[in-house]
Amino acid sequence: MDAAIIGAGPAGLMAAEVLAQGGASVTVFDAMPSAGRKFLMAGRGGLNLTHSEPLPQFLARYREATSRLDPAITAFPPQCLREWSEALGQPTFVGTSGRVFPQAFKASPLLRAWLRRLNASGVRFEFRHRWQGWDDDGRLMFRAPQGERVVEARTVVLALGGASWPRLGSDGLWTETLAARGVFVSPLRSANCGFTVAWSDVFRSRFEGQPLKGAAWSFGPQTIRGEAMVTRSGLEGGAIYALSADLREAVVTSGEAILHVALRPGLDVKQLAARLSAPRGKQSLSNVLRKAAQLSPVGAGLLQEAAIAAGASLSSLSPERLATLINAVPIKLTGTAPIARAISSAGGIVFDELDADFMIRRLPGVFAAGEMLDWEAPTGGYLLQACFATGVAAGRGALHWLAQHAAS
Ligand SMILES: Cc1cc2nc3c(=O)[nH]c(=O)nc-3n(C[C@H](O)[C@H](O)[C@H](O)COP(=O)(O)OP(=O)(O)OC[C@H]3O[C@@H](n4cnc5c(N)ncnc54)[C@H](O)[C@@H]3O)c2cc1C
Repeated sequence: MDAAIIGAGPAGLMAAEVLAQGGASVTVFDAMPSAGRKFLMAGRGGLNLTHSEPLPQFLARYREATSRLDPAITAFPPQCLREWSEALGQPTFVGTSGRVFPQAFKASPLLRAWLRRLNASGVRFEFRHRWQGWDDDGRLMFRAPQGERVVEARTVVLALGGASWPRLGSDGLWTETLAARGVFVSPLRSANCGFTVAWSDVFRSRFEGQPLKGAAWSFGPQTIRGEAMVTRSGLEGGAIYALSADLREAVVTSGEAILHVALRPGLDVKQLAARLSAPRGKQSLSNVLRKAAQLSPVGAGLLQEAAIAAGASLSSLSPERLATLINAVPIKLTGTAPIARAISSAGGIVFDELDADFMIRRLPGVFAAGEMLDWEAPTGGYLLQACFATGVAAGRGALHWLAQHAAS
């Protein structure tokens, strides 16, 4: 075969499509019994394919990796992804937040149509094939249902994903295989993930599973309006994921990060203090917090947690201090949630190991794409966009390689 693609997620399938369209004979291998399992899982939340914001703003979401991903995303930008989806019978729309979704709001019809088109263009699939590395003759080694199998391919695209949700196939074990070949891989770490908080037993038993809505979450210069959920061991949810890259780095460096939450971000401290200054009569403090400050029970519980941690009593605070606390409740995060529960992973093959065609310099003819590369981004469609775009880039790179190294 001309090209072996290992990994049947969005990045690998896109590389397969580009190579097949360029006339190469392509086989896609995957350890799982079927293609695109994580893609299908992403579809459960509506399949946020990409985002409609202007390209410079879009590219900035990739943080340190912006300049590395720029050429691939500029060559296959969000508009191309939307047209590609539409050509597969799945037109897209822009949601109120600027996020882009297929109208069907799920991944399965898109994936089905895509696999049909790939089959029609001659792409072959070998499932239940776990890639193990290379043998001494440079052939690909797989563990397959029929036993060990070796495969020769003129070029290879690795699209093995990160290490979140390993039961969907991407378990990050490839990092050892590549490291053994001298490829520098930045350790895979949780991204778009929850964090651990040492809740008191009382708070945990009362509020586990409850959402904190309409709050504003701040860490460093960043503030995110949105929802988070109290979990048994901490906090998770969209607002926390959005801050997770910086929070994670702070936790790794200092062992903890102090997140601040404004429970009533629509009111300033003066307005809140005025409401809290009204005579209380016989009302309990929790009633005052509920009625005057309109805090939910979980919000009031969070205040209580902060007061306990500071060795203070809420009832001893002046209305001004209480109002200040309501809009800047400190929460001490002590660790990141396990990578298996994260939406995505940071880390991967560092860009210095790749040439402009996404070929691994130390492994001529071997290309890499998708989440296995060293970039991270928030949710919002940025993850899939980078996977698709690097899949296209690696596919084009592999085609170029085939053309330059014509079979003798
Ligand atoms: C719950 C959830 C929701 C998400 N929602 C969104 C969303 O709405 N929008 C968005 O942009 N992103 C979302 N993502 C992230 C997105 O799904 C991933 O970033 C994307 O699927 C990564 O694509 P990939 O092709 O790089 O890797 P994957 O999709 O992980 O595919 C890698 C493939 O490689 C295979 N593989 C791994 N190791 C081996 C091996 N040794 N041998 C053979 N095969 C192997 C795996 O079985 C897998 O099929 C979500 C993720 C999760 C977990």
